[in-house]
Amino acid sequence: MRHVDLRSDTVTQPTPAMREAMYRAEIGDDGYGEDPTVNRLEEVAAERMGKEAAVFVASGTMGNLVAILTHCGRGDEVVMGDESHIFWYENGGPATLGGIHVRTVANAPDGTLPLDKLAAAIRPDNNKFPRTKLICLENTHNRCSGKVLSREYSAEVHALGREHGVPVHLDGARLFNAAVYLGIDASRLAGEAESVQFCFSKGLSAPVGSALCGSGAFIQEARRWRQALGGGMRQAGVIAAAALVGLETMVDRLAEDHENAQVLADGLAAIPGLDLRPEEIQTNIVICRPLAMPSDLFLRRLAEHGVKAANYWGGLVRFVTHYGIERADVDHALKAVQAVMRGPE
Ligand SMILES: *Cc1c(COP(=O)(O)O)cnc(C)c1O
Repeated sequence: MRHVDLRSDTVTQPTPAMREAMYRAEIGDDGYGEDPTVNRLEEVAAERMGKEAAVFVASGTMGNLVAILTHCGRGDEVVMGDESHIFWYENGGPATLGGIHVRTVANAPDGTLPLDKLAAAIRPDNNKFPRTKLICLENTHNRCSGKVLSREYSAEVHALGREHGVPVHLDGARLFNAAVYLGIDASRLAGEAESVQFCFSKGLSAPVGSALCGSGAFIQEARRWRQALGGGMRQAGVIAAAALVGLETMVDRLAEDHENAQVLADGLAAIPGLDLRPEEIQTNIVICRPLAMPSDLFLRRLAEHGVKAANYWGGLVRFVTHYGIERADVDHALKAVQAVMRGPE
């Protein structure tokens, strides 16, 4: 039986070029700043985001947490979407480790935070209120079906932040998917944010790691928090080598994932009993609702056909296309979903 794993783009295996680069990587102790491969990766990552500096971190979660801890102090407030990854899946890190108050604004279905609601969430100076110290955006937006935030919208949020003296952190775990969708350089999407985190371990297919990018002074401070969180690594060039290959060779091919996601979404929409709007799919994430059965039963039946998707709770199911998923895999997944929806013969 064919196995098709569409749970996430984190299941991607490193490419042969990555394994080769890992084998050959020149390494040293990054605790002393002496790993040439890590240093090179941080340089290239900063450059790709149009920032002065970058720090290599173990995960996207660590990158976001280090950013929030660097921007905010104890008792400060950070504003983010109620569907954001940081709010849902990062185990309350800002509160747990920073004593930082998270305030959510309802995400619109397109992943944006409506500007009027965002403006209303920024606190006036008053000794009964926590201080608003940070706004977080997410691009592409995971729980909003991989929606892309436009340059224009991002610029409006940055202008609003500047007006109130509040910096913006961009959770750009899949920022390159957004850049490929818009056909622009990722640095143009990251440009105005004071900090940006992006993942090597998703669509770029590297095994481990993320980069947090910002000004030189910001990254110097971020390195302290990374150390405090136990994120200081040693011969990390072994993994940084694969991340570099990801950055250098795996960005343009994300367009294939987007095409496959569109084919998948169109196919799913044609199957009775599934609710989704295929015209809204922009990148590599397809979220749909099986109407006739609970999502966990749907997923169990799908797994019997060799196809894995993710439970998105609230009755939703998520499919993600990625390196290693070919058109034939999408076709196989669609046949499997058809069989599941038809029920036993
Ligand atoms: C995956 C993801 C993260 C976290 O990355 P990890 O490496 O899994 O910790 C953060 N934000 C978004 C939007 C993500 O999709």
